[in-house]
Amino acid sequence: MSRPHWTRKSDSSWRRAFGRERLFVFALVLAFFGCGPLQAQPSLDRLIQDADAVRTSDARRFAELLGQIDALAEQATARQINRIRMLRVHQSITTGRSAEAIVELRRILVDAVDAETRFLAASMLANTHAVQRQFEDSLRALDAMLPLVEGVEDRELRHRGLMVAAIVYNQVGEYGLALRHVETVAQDQPVPRTVCAIGSITLEAKNGLGQSFDDRMAHDVLEKCADEPIFAAFVRWHLARQMEAQGRLSDAIALLTRHLPEVEATGYPFIIAQYHAALAELSMKAGEPAAARVHSDKALSISTEAMSAEAIVKAHHVQYLLALQGNDMESALSAYRLYAEAERAHFNDVKSREMAYQVVRHQSLQQAQQIELLHQKNEVLELQKRVTEQRAQNWLLLALVLVAGMTSVGYWAYKTKRLQVRLKRMTETDALTGICNRQHFSERAGSALAQCERAGEPAVLVMFDLDHFKQVNDRFGHAAGDWALRQVADAVRPLCRGIDAFGRLGGEEFALFLPGLDASAAARLANDAQVRIQAIDGAEDGYAFRITASFGVADVADGQYDLTSLMRQADQAMYAAKRGGRRQVRIYDSALESDDGPPPPVELLRGVARDPVPAATTPAGADARRAIA
Ligand code: GH3
Ligand code: MG
Ligand code: MG
Repeated sequence: MSRPHWTRKSDSSWRRAFGRERLFVFALVLAFFGCGPLQAQPSLDRLIQDADAVRTSDARRFAELLGQIDALAEQATARQINRIRMLRVHQSITTGRSAEAIVELRRILVDAVDAETRFLAASMLANTHAVQRQFEDSLRALDAMLPLVEGVEDRELRHRGLMVAAIVYNQVGEYGLALRHVETVAQDQPVPRTVCAIGSITLEAKNGLGQSFDDRMAHDVLEKCADEPIFAAFVRWHLARQMEAQGRLSDAIALLTRHLPEVEATGYPFIIAQYHAALAELSMKAGEPAAARVHSDKALSISTEAMSAEAIVKAHHVQYLLALQGNDMESALSAYRLYAEAERAHFNDVKSREMAYQVVRHQSLQQAQQIELLHQKNEVLELQKRVTEQRAQNWLLLALVLVAGMTSVGYWAYKTKRLQVRLKRMTETDALTGICNRQHFSERAGSALAQCERAGEPAVLVMFDLDHFKQVNDRFGHAAGDWALRQVADAVRPLCRGIDAFGRLGGEEFALFLPGLDASAAARLANDAQVRIQAIDGAEDGYAFRITASFGVADVADGQYDLTSLMRQADQAMYAAKRGGRRQVRIYDSALESDDGPPPPVELLRGVARDPVPAATTPAGADARRAIA
């Protein structure tokens, strides 16, 4: 039985896998965190210093020292107390108790009076959230940290915070900001290890921005990374990506192959998988299938928990191409499925990270406006006071000033309101197509369904998924795919009434919730949508493709007003449409519960992008309620 996409177990396991993605880089930054210089109070300070020195290298001794520190805690100064709390936070993080660490860091951020402690707490908070893939929280912590940077005298501490900011900004796709922060550090006499990290982050950001850099620049960085094998491995990997972008396949292969032994010697699975996956892809492109086979097998032999999403996507793609080349359709199909699933997960992950930055930026803008509003209100109060005091003089003039003040409050209130509306709309809307996102669609459909139940009215859910859409992306690129998704939303939107909900559930899957309609009316509407979707012509965007979709329809005919089961039924009907040859509309029927074979491989491998759109068909033998083509 096919499960609806939003409950697929694999989603969470992907997310777990991505959770490790940059773990090492974050861990490195974490390792930078120290307790800063300490003066006076020799014995307790000594213990704190010792604990700080061993905290990343000797967990047992670290715990022992913390015990001794506790015994002396009563005589600690306020500053020492905060340093001790910070050591405890470090212990929580390294023993996997990040949630506790986050709570404590937030408290320290409130309690601490000196800028340095607050800066350290905020940067550790940003780092811990980022390791947990909580990018919105991480960016908020950076917002708290960055304004404090001027007041931090300890240079290394300052650098650590800015480096965390740069790493997080790279993660959310804000490469320009990442560059700005590493440049600040670069101009502030960083220690050699930081110089190496700056180089690696810079190359990653340049790749992200599509900016070219020459081999010499990477080699300069490598010189600084002589004692940092893992950073050096990342630097070579960024360089190989650049070589690939410049069409220098054999240079990229030679570089990665030459350094593979030392990368493997690091024992760090994330980067080892990255090398093998890149070598698999490059070898495939260079027409060396035997090497592509070896490297993709090696990449996939590493646990997905330790691999980057990108490496998983690459390795499965290569295996799919190899199976196709070998005419092994069965393996091709299973490799293709893994590839498609990995790519979808990768896509969603990247987009939600980019979204995190937008949401946080808007929220801080809104906050700033609210502060401004308060400020303006205070000014009006002040004016009112003065008006009372000077009632006798200049009545008219002051009244005018008062009116002006009120107007400006009104203006700010209006702007704040508008911003709130914009923010709300942003969190409800799918950024690509402008229709509801999955969350908001479910909310709207859920409340409309409850209303239908109260009124005893019918309601129906239509779900549709574009056919062979992956091939549009594969052949014409993601920009063409994005264009097509927007066109689909624009084509279907005019069919909706004000009370209907239309949303993108994810990827190339859409849904309509239609209150008051039954399944056959909805199936007619689905057919209209099909006609409109088929009329979309890739030629308008400069590409030769056409699109079709498979529709699944489910209504509340069984008297069950339950959104989850409606969605499950529509999903099943949609998959029946896929299995039935795609480009058709299916209505849910309980007989579908037992009907769940995989689609034939040849369909997947042939593809709509290459084939002309077939004539409309009604699957033979299917009953009229189940198949409408
Ligand atoms: P099927 O007929 O079985 O649905 O085949 P398909 O190729 O459409 O299905 P599959 O789920 O395997 O692939 C969906 C693809 O849609 C994966 C990814 O390339 C693409 N995709 C998902 N989200 C987006 C997006 O936001 N933009 C673009 N351009 N492509 C996307
Ligand atoms: Mg599809
Ligand atoms: Mg799909």
